[in-house]
Amino acid sequence: MGEFELIRRFFQRPAGAGVDVGVGDDCAVLAPTRGSRWLVSSDMLVEGRHFLSTVDPQRLGHKALAVNLSDLAACGATPRGFTLALALPRYDEAWLAGFSRGLLALAEQSECPLVGGDTTQGPLNLCVTVFGEAPNGQALLRSGARLGDEIWVSGWLGDARLALEMFRGRVTLGGTDFDAVRLALECPTPRLELGRALRGVATAAIDISDGLLGDLGHVLRASRVGARVRLDDLPRSPVLAQQTQLLQRECLLAGGDDYELVFTVPPGTDVAALAGATPVTRIGVIESEPGLRVVDAAGEPVAHGLRSFDHFMP
Ligand code: ADP
Ligand code: MG
Repeated sequence: MGEFELIRRFFQRPAGAGVDVGVGDDCAVLAPTRGSRWLVSSDMLVEGRHFLSTVDPQRLGHKALAVNLSDLAACGATPRGFTLALALPRYDEAWLAGFSRGLLALAEQSECPLVGGDTTQGPLNLCVTVFGEAPNGQALLRSGARLGDEIWVSGWLGDARLALEMFRGRVTLGGTDFDAVRLALECPTPRLELGRALRGVATAAIDISDGLLGDLGHVLRASRVGARVRLDDLPRSPVLAQQTQLLQRECLLAGGDDYELVFTVPPGTDVAALAGATPVTRIGVIESEPGLRVVDAAGEPVAHGLRSFDHFMP
């Protein structure tokens, strides 16, 4: 099995609408939509750092693309295509078949074709770059939150972190509970429809990849505002709700790998109607005083001592 045969077999599919040239030439050629802007984002997944060597390759294929689509969702972009740079230790037919199945299934479902990439031998490493589009001036950014805006979040927070704590041996979960949170960790759903529905409505948005504290913190700094968030309002699964208060807090505030959207809207916006089938919860409000205040039911600050994940912080 040579490099080009591998690419042809596992990654080359007929190019779809909007792709003039896909896999197989020196560059992919994509047709821009009139009046739109390109939105481009890359995310890398490194074995041992972002995933365990034992993870199901089909789920890994899904996740490699999902975390990238989540960035497009956060900007309200429509996916147009992606590239895949792949380093593989060896030719492993079963692994490649599973990986490409998971990857290309999500690509098809999201109408985001694989248009090119690079394949080399080396320690397992996956880097996806996605290309999306949004009408000129309508991309959702981190910088637009204003005093009095409501803060909302999609889905549930913290399940992915709970699954990680189970892998680490810190908690024990029953079979079905573990399967449920493991799915959140290994198979996240990018909130593309929600992101597009928020175009022209949300004042700021971000996807939660490192934890709510850090990611909402990015919005606050970019927007030069502060916020108050109620701990009790943070949406959590029934499985997480059964854990100790301390663990719930850690998973909700600093969990990471959630790939939910946190966004701000002018007060009174009918967010539930915009979101359609996507679950959304109001969690707080934008204030003028800088910083993020997490408060309890009585409105008193919660001293949590937590912060989000950072690759280079001890
Ligand atoms: P070049 O040497 O011109 O950079 P390569 O020989 O690396 O091109 O790749 C040949 C073709 O296969 C190119 O069109 C490239 O985009 C595509 N390709 C390589 N690896 C992958 C991959 N993992 N997934 C999809 N397309 C790939
Ligand atoms: Mg070339």
